[in-house]
Amino acid sequence: MKSYDWIVVGGGITGAAVSYELAKKGFAVLLLERDAIMQNATRFSYGGLAYWSGTTDLTRQLCAEGIERHRNLSAELEADTEFRELDLLLTIDRGDDPEKAAANYAHFAIPPQLLSVAEAGELEPLLNKSAIGGALTVRHGHISPTATNIAYCQGFLRLGGTIEIAEVIGLIAEGNRISGVQTVQESYACENVVICAGGWSRTLLKAAGISAGVYFSRAEILETEPVDLKLRTLVMPAVLKRFELEAESSKIEVDFLWDEPGKELLPPVLDAGAVQFNDGSLRIGQLSRTLSDLNAKVVKRSYPVPRRGSRRVGNRTTSEAAIRTGIGKVLPDVAGLTATWHDCIVAFSADKLPVVGEIGSRPGLHVFSGLSNPLAIVPALAERFADSAAGEKDGAIKSGTASLNEILSPNRFV
Ligand SMILES: Cc1cc2nc3c(=O)[nH]c(=O)nc-3n(C[C@H](O)[C@H](O)[C@H](O)COP(=O)(O)OP(=O)(O)OC[C@H]3O[C@@H](n4cnc5c(N)ncnc54)[C@H](O)[C@@H]3O)c2cc1C
Repeated sequence: MKSYDWIVVGGGITGAAVSYELAKKGFAVLLLERDAIMQNATRFSYGGLAYWSGTTDLTRQLCAEGIERHRNLSAELEADTEFRELDLLLTIDRGDDPEKAAANYAHFAIPPQLLSVAEAGELEPLLNKSAIGGALTVRHGHISPTATNIAYCQGFLRLGGTIEIAEVIGLIAEGNRISGVQTVQESYACENVVICAGGWSRTLLKAAGISAGVYFSRAEILETEPVDLKLRTLVMPAVLKRFELEAESSKIEVDFLWDEPGKELLPPVLDAGAVQFNDGSLRIGQLSRTLSDLNAKVVKRSYPVPRRGSRRVGNRTTSEAAIRTGIGKVLPDVAGLTATWHDCIVAFSADKLPVVGEIGSRPGLHVFSGLSNPLAIVPALAERFADSAAGEKDGAIKSGTASLNEILSPNRFV
């Protein structure tokens, strides 16, 4: 049986960054990824770096460290991550109170500034000014998540790491201690396993009898080929329904439903937004669902009849049409673009904080998942994870008397 210091399960942005950082410390690392062609949350992400959004000492520091790493990552990894900064435009629906929307962001490290409708239109000429009551703006980082993921993997290989395309189907244990993983073809021995499997992390952990507060939603987006139209800003609603859906669906009362097949825990939500990448292509979204079945086939599923209070205000439609209608209100020129529909699974945690660390009851088993908006902080968090694996102290970040490792530990949910 081949043996490693660390086996990393999942080769999305978290697994790639963690593998690279562990290899940098001199560990013998194997990265196991199921898909040869990425179909994961990283692949379909907008790529936004919300480095302004820290709300506690811990998240502010991780954001500050993360954006610093992003600024230098292309040079370090010897590949272009397409890092840039752009204006984020958070739209406020007409009829909503702009001051109240701004107040919701007042506690962020860099609070977005309130714009009038006219100012928002100047910042983003494609904006339909009649649909909004105002907007918020802040400088936002942006990368190509795919390019960054590949850059991390290439950096990892240069450091002597190993990547194999194989699906992990189980963990191998000696007593309580995890001592390896099982793929469809082979068994691998190791000192430590870290689960970086995004939305699939929950199932892998459950199979080992562990409930670590990691959940998953299903996102649906439209993606265009490169187009001539120029979207200057990254556009999203000021009130993101996805975060509300995550908070509601991970409440303890419905926890057991997550493991029953075929359930839709809460009605789907739509956050109309769009971003344009350096090559001119756009990602337009985002519809989010809480389906308990990881493997549910969501082929342009039907989207429920929109309601205002108890009254139906439209007809049942497809999710692609719902996304087009949603974006059409804010960015009408974007709504009619030829685009391909995609869906993917996105991890999140019960308290919005990453779930990172060793499972107390299963020595050798670690988690690095549950990060629902993680791109800004992943480089810094992966580095700190590797520091900790190498026995270096995590004293630099504290909240009261608790260290980073204690705050993010999966044991807070076990
Ligand atoms: C439309 C959309 C927009 C987003 N926008 C932003 C944004 O602007 N900013 C931001 O910070 N975040 C954003 N996110 C969220 C962010 O992209 C994801 O949270 C992040 O990319 C997840 O990375 P991950 O490595 O945890 O998971 P993934 O990228 O999903 O990777 C997990 C990997 O694990 C592999 N895997 C699973 N099970 C196994 C197994 N048994 N064996 C082997 N491999 C396995 C999968 O194949 C997959 O490749 C967005 C997400 C979506 C969907």
